[in-house]
Amino acid sequence: MPATKAKTAIKAKAAKAAPAKRPAAPARPVPAKPKTQPKAMSAKVVPAKRVAAQSHKSVTKSGKTPASKKATGAQKALARKTSSAKPVAPAKSATSSKKTSPAQPVAPAKPVTPVAPKQPKPVKILRNIKLKPLAWGLLPTDWRDVCAELDQPSFRARQIWKWLHQRRVMSWDAMSDIPEPLREEMAKRFDISAWTDDTYEQSTDDGVRKLLLGCRDGERIESVIIPARDQATVCISTQAGCAFKCAFCATGKCGFDRNLEAGEIVGQFIAASSVSPRRLTHVVFMGMGEPFANYDNVLKAIRILNDFDGLAIGARRITISTCGVVPGIERLIAENIQVELSVSLHAPDDALRTKLMPVNKQWPLPVLMEACRKYTEKTGRIITFEYTLVEGLNDKPEHADKVIELVRPIRGRVNLIPLSPVKHFRGVAPSPEACIAFGRRLQRGGINVTLRRSKGRSVTAACGQLKLSRVAAIEAASIPRPVIDR
Ligand code: SF4
Repeated sequence: MPATKAKTAIKAKAAKAAPAKRPAAPARPVPAKPKTQPKAMSAKVVPAKRVAAQSHKSVTKSGKTPASKKATGAQKALARKTSSAKPVAPAKSATSSKKTSPAQPVAPAKPVTPVAPKQPKPVKILRNIKLKPLAWGLLPTDWRDVCAELDQPSFRARQIWKWLHQRRVMSWDAMSDIPEPLREEMAKRFDISAWTDDTYEQSTDDGVRKLLLGCRDGERIESVIIPARDQATVCISTQAGCAFKCAFCATGKCGFDRNLEAGEIVGQFIAASSVSPRRLTHVVFMGMGEPFANYDNVLKAIRILNDFDGLAIGARRITISTCGVVPGIERLIAENIQVELSVSLHAPDDALRTKLMPVNKQWPLPVLMEACRKYTEKTGRIITFEYTLVEGLNDKPEHADKVIELVRPIRGRVNLIPLSPVKHFRGVAPSPEACIAFGRRLQRGGINVTLRRSKGRSVTAACGQLKLSRVAAIEAASIPRPVIDR
């Protein structure tokens, strides 16, 4: 509908409508109820229907939000209509166990009949589909512009923002203090739900949860929730696939499909927060894709995540990880944003690094390290260099000495990561003693070192592996591979 027609329609309908009750004060998002930690890892992939929709359910189910208390009859009818529209099944944990009453005698364990895992459906990727923009991808200023275009007061923009980012509702109908004609107009323009029912979840005994999210065009992307004490980090994807082909990365093996829009990047956070047993406090852009190859959408998503009136993730709790895209590092220097930067090093010389990371041909180590030096000098921030240790390949003392030479002139620390097993890469992690010895040598050379404990190996936690294992499942079941509709 043209903007002028839309304005007239909204005004006419709003005039007919009964005067809206005073908008209720927005409530801060209610932290997710802690769930029982999984006891053992399950190899079964469990569909988590409408992962993202659960956050809406948690709001409406409680019935205690001020807005729902003050709802008019029409609004209640509307709320009944929306709540009955689609029942939201809670995500089954792959590892959940039944609680036994202490009074009841414990029955002897029955032999478990193996259940055949659900066969995944073949995927159809729709390249030409015209999708509405996602509401999660708009900044507060964008909402003000949309409201101005529709001749609406600017406080409507704030109301919409709070419904989306504080209450995290999943439908326009749930925004009870927004006039119905405006909700209808917004629903015509923007999608709220970023994901389809084709969403899967895996979890492990160390609490890591991996989500395989189905995009509206059929693409699938991954997000991983990594819990730590009373907080949790979510690892987010920035592209569907990746063009950089790093040797030990499962995503690189899948190839590049498309960039994710800002709404899909923020939508991963929303989906993860709806199933995470702990509050998500940190975001790392280390999932599928190279963040600097989708620079504008990633930076927009960061500004949305960082907004104080919204999801309020502190900039210092957001980390961008790059495989070494120098123009991206240079652009980030110019941004006035205090995010953390992490650079994948993985090899201490050009010959080995080019073998492991083809990006090194375009931006070899001297060029990359010069960009890193400029970044630390101009921003005053430290860079974390990721170094995946592979036995016999890059874990010898001479490799450690070269790493010292590279990193010592820069304000940087080295994060050592023992290799996670990847099917297509022949290599194993060194022994824990060898990893510690490598780290100690770096420390003696004056480098700050951390040794990352690999969590979530059993959910194929290296990026792209869940998608890859799903493709393998499709092949094994002789179901046709994804059809690309170009
Ligand atoms: S490691 Fe990152 S940049 Fe390299 S192929 Fe994988 S997703 Fe792409």
